[in-house]
Amino acid sequence: MAAAYKERINRARKLARDEGFEALWVNDAPNVRYLSGFTGSSGYILLGPGKGYFITDSRYELQAAQEVRDLEIAILRGRLPALLKQLLSGMNVSRLAFSGALLSFDEVQSIRRALRGTAAFQPLQGSLSGLRAVKDAEEVTALRRAVSNAERAMRAVAGLVRPGVTEMRVAEALACELIRGACDDAAFNIIVACGPRSALPHATPSGRRLGRRDLMLLDWGARCGGYHSDMTRVFFEGEPAAELRKIHGVVLEAREAALQAIRPGAAAADVDAAARRVIEDAGYGEHFGHALGHGVGLEVHEAPVLGGASRDILKPGMVFTVEPGIYLPGKGGVRIEDVIHLEGDGPRVLGRLPRSGVLPSGAGRGSEVMVE
Ligand code: ZN
Ligand code: ZN
Repeated sequence: MAAAYKERINRARKLARDEGFEALWVNDAPNVRYLSGFTGSSGYILLGPGKGYFITDSRYELQAAQEVRDLEIAILRGRLPALLKQLLSGMNVSRLAFSGALLSFDEVQSIRRALRGTAAFQPLQGSLSGLRAVKDAEEVTALRRAVSNAERAMRAVAGLVRPGVTEMRVAEALACELIRGACDDAAFNIIVACGPRSALPHATPSGRRLGRRDLMLLDWGARCGGYHSDMTRVFFEGEPAAELRKIHGVVLEAREAALQAIRPGAAAADVDAAARRVIEDAGYGEHFGHALGHGVGLEVHEAPVLGGASRDILKPGMVFTVEPGIYLPGKGGVRIEDVIHLEGDGPRVLGRLPRSGVLPSGAGRGSEVMVE
């Protein structure tokens, strides 16, 4: 793994150098973790020519010594801009880059004041977070664990999903199971929505109970070793209203069309379009308002973006979601979301949870059963 961090640091340095910067400032936790292995919440990285620093405060001194390799550790005792100025004084740096998307205007101003007369502090055009879009083998292993832990948790609570159960009860049970797994935590606040509430793509769990002929949408994930999974399934209690059954079928078709379009070299926007066309042709185009998918890794939402305005090109090693959805106000919504690993010869769906929509409790009618 040590070699991986060295390689990542080299790629980050190159990104800055290609734009004429001698040094790079990294301030956000996911990128800091990616480049150094540091798992704490407060750390910074300064990559200069031939020299690199990891900066944290005294709370993390011991942890940094254990986790960080290949970077010299500097402990922050006063103000950050002053320490940055001091570290830069030992290097020959006239232009220092930062990621404009990740630093506040106030922080930029205070660092610029500290560096006045010594170095320009300017935004990088390239994306630091974009470095993370292609995953190495260890990252894919962590993502697979995050998916399998999410699935294990779902199987463990599946029996709870019966008529009368509240959204909140299911969300709580799922969160507990995600923590009980040998992973870090839930990846994000779990979405559980029944009936018409499922038409809200980001519904917060409420006290609403699952009724007869109702549907329940669950969007959940696990975080393992810092890496996130993100999945969505919909369960039907009994025979759902005909239109809900119909949109469930359309969403599955859209998902299939997306998987057919995913290959190395494909434009992410074209994959979004392939799925969207199926939903539009079925007459539901206006009810699929969000992008088809997003990269997952050290963040739940990261590069690439699978959406109409995306300029991302899919590459082997990328891991992202595919999540077509149709949301009918007042009636209900259906979304099916999986994590996809793009390999050299095509996409692999990580995980094995069935996508069928019948209640898992065994009381369910029909031939499709969730727990295999
Ligand atoms: Zn999701
Ligand atoms: Zn998602």
